[in-house]
Amino acid sequence: MLQIQKDVSLLPLNTFGMKVSAAYFSAIADESEIPDLYKEPAFANGLFLLGGGSNILFTGNVQQWVLHNRIKGIAVCKEDDQHIWLRAGGGEIWHDFVCYCVQRGYGGIENLSLIPGTVGAAPIQNIGAYGAEVRTVIEEVRAWHFEEKKFLVFSNAACCFGYRDSVFKRALKEKVLISSVVFRLDKNPVFNISYGGIKAELEQMKVAKLSLENISQAVMRIRSAKLPDPKKTGNAGSFFKNPEITTAYFEKLQLTWPGIPGYRLSGTSVKIPAAWLIEQCGWKGFRQDNYGVHPNQPLVLVNYGNAEGAAIARLSRQIRESVQDKFAIDLETEVRIY
Ligand code: FAD
Ligand code: NAP
Repeated sequence: MLQIQKDVSLLPLNTFGMKVSAAYFSAIADESEIPDLYKEPAFANGLFLLGGGSNILFTGNVQQWVLHNRIKGIAVCKEDDQHIWLRAGGGEIWHDFVCYCVQRGYGGIENLSLIPGTVGAAPIQNIGAYGAEVRTVIEEVRAWHFEEKKFLVFSNAACCFGYRDSVFKRALKEKVLISSVVFRLDKNPVFNISYGGIKAELEQMKVAKLSLENISQAVMRIRSAKLPDPKKTGNAGSFFKNPEITTAYFEKLQLTWPGIPGYRLSGTSVKIPAAWLIEQCGWKGFRQDNYGVHPNQPLVLVNYGNAEGAAIARLSRQIRESVQDKFAIDLETEVRIY
């Protein structure tokens, strides 16, 4: 039975640690509860869908009805000699699902260890890290469409995945609630340790034989050493996406900035680490009162305690403007600012 609470603090449900509240709040534990939402008077306020709150910056209280996804469960759909297809509830914790797969020898998401948030949010920005993206293992996404008032199933192609992007961030933004995801995982995994840092970490760990466990461990060790722990310092990971620019423009920038890093994506485009651009603009380690830019990872904006979301949002605009002024590159915000 769906419980509706009033004036609920969202402090435990956003990794930036913003002290904001929801006018109405419900935790959805089963997808069968979704069709009944329309009957409730709170529905008239509009909905705000919330997973783990690890990609959101709240700048004020939420007047809509917050629906927190707690739909759990992992089940085998089918398997063959090569693959296993697992359906995971949208409210499963992403890293717990990674551990579940790693422990059973199912490969494909070990490089995505320790990413905060829920399974249901993973397809939205096609979570990625250390040379892997979740799109490579997503078979289909099941979601309730609030206007069509029915469940729809999106094939991998229908999700229109891109770099930290999908149809759920664009045409279907705030229109669907992702209730479960089917993953196709590899029973004979091919290990991916080419991304900078993983090999060196495995060497430090003195790993003799590669396994899903030790790759996952290596990724966790690198992340824990490099990224601020939201339990200690509020943040939502990378605030901006790494911009993609044309090769021609990259070569032009190289004339002024010979050290500019870039990863060639195709013959015609290059991905630039946004962290480098932000650092060149002098923001690395910037601190004002109780918020700022992380001293080791300038892509991460931080709340040192009791900061206002609006102040962090303002800082993000200043960073964008200075990168625009210096490099004529428009940084796209990855975090949802509410
Ligand atoms: P939320 O923050 O709760 O929501 C994000 C957006 O999705 C919101 O617009 C929300 O309305 C919507 N939403 C959430 N759940 C649903 C649903 N079930 N149906 C429909 N809409 C929904 N991201 C990466 O890609 N790679 C990384 O390596 C990475 N590292 C991070 C490290 C740290 C320390 C932090 C704090 C964040 C990091 N992130 C990373 C960002 C974040 O973890 C991911 O974007 C994650 O998928 C967000 O999940 P969530 O459940 O917290 O979503
Ligand atoms: P990093 O390893 O210092 O690398 C800096 C940037 O260069 C990354 O953003 C990465 O792009 C790019 N890069 C590095 N090696 C690459 C390669 N071999 N091929 C293509 N691109 C390469 O980055 P980091 O900050 O420590 O993060 C490590 C990984 O975790 C990255 O994949 C990053 O995206 C992910 N991460 C994401 C978030 C988030 O909130 N989205 C937060 C923390 C970490 P990519 O970002 O495209 O990989």
